[in-house]
Amino acid sequence: MSPREMKPVRTQLQMVFQDSYSSLNPRKHVFEILSEPMLYHKLADRHTAPKQVKRLLDMVGLPHAAMGRYPHEFSGGQRQRIGIAKALSLNPRLLVCDEPVSALDVSIQAQILNLLRSLQQELNLTCIFIGHGLGAVNYVSHRIAVMYLGQIVELADNRELFENPVHPYSKALFDAVPVADPRGAKRGKPPALKGEVQLPEGHSQGCPFYSRCPYHREPCLQGDMELKPIKPGSGHLAPASATTKFREEKDDMTKYIIKRLLIAIPTLIGITIIDYAIMCFAGSPLEMLQGARISQAAVAAKEAALGLDKPFYIQYFIWVGQLFQGNMGYSIKSYEAVSA
Ligand code: SF4
Repeated sequence: MSPREMKPVRTQLQMVFQDSYSSLNPRKHVFEILSEPMLYHKLADRHTAPKQVKRLLDMVGLPHAAMGRYPHEFSGGQRQRIGIAKALSLNPRLLVCDEPVSALDVSIQAQILNLLRSLQQELNLTCIFIGHGLGAVNYVSHRIAVMYLGQIVELADNRELFENPVHPYSKALFDAVPVADPRGAKRGKPPALKGEVQLPEGHSQGCPFYSRCPYHREPCLQGDMELKPIKPGSGHLAPASATTKFREEKDDMTKYIIKRLLIAIPTLIGITIIDYAIMCFAGSPLEMLQGARISQAAVAAKEAALGLDKPFYIQYFIWVGQLFQGNMGYSIKSYEAVSA
């Protein structure tokens, strides 16, 4: 594009910088900083500029009295608000926020993030938010791209990414987030990632994460890094290698659960059968509890009432059925069901 063609496009693309101090001209007061872009692009004239500047200050929550002050007279958070107002002065369609809160105190970060969110909604603005803090990125983003060495390695809606990261680097990022409650932290947890951030030696293609990835294999160095849906129709994109790994992990987990169930179910059945057999060898519980005071006929009648006269396996299934209904069995004294 020629400079002439580029000029109208510039108004549509604006940027908020990380360092709010160096991004503002220290020799100019706020009125000049905010009005000059509008005057240059003919979006305001000398008469309308003061009104427009006041509107911008209202949008970012600064008093009108700020117009005559210089950048060094403001706090970091206030300067960042001026930077946002400057970016909004040209009514952009796309705002690139390059780590706009990383140089600010935590409480001020929250104010700036809230401001960005409300501006997004009010102005129907598209924002590209670049950041390292996962919490801040999640707060202002609808869709998140995880980048490693300049390449997007995973792209998904924020909720989907936080609940189901598939790329090893995304997982390592989430693992590296400190846990506020030390009781919830895994003890002796190994560092999320080892090694340096660099391309594998002698390889300019393939996976940039190869040297640090715990799952790396030789084909990763020749692999196709194009982002593909992790399942058909999904908006969650990752390189095919990570997707395959994700499927393998899911398959592994399913196999693990089935294997455990195949062991647990026969074990449970075996234990309960042995338990029943021991009780049967021990004799009738009615006779043991009531001794000689009760006649054989009465014992038989009560056993029939409790289902103890039925074959062993039927007794077992009656017991399991009662367990599912919340009954732990019958009281030998009252013959009433005992609830869990
Ligand atoms: S392509 Fe290979 S090295 Fe890269 S993230 Fe996937 S498994 Fe790891």
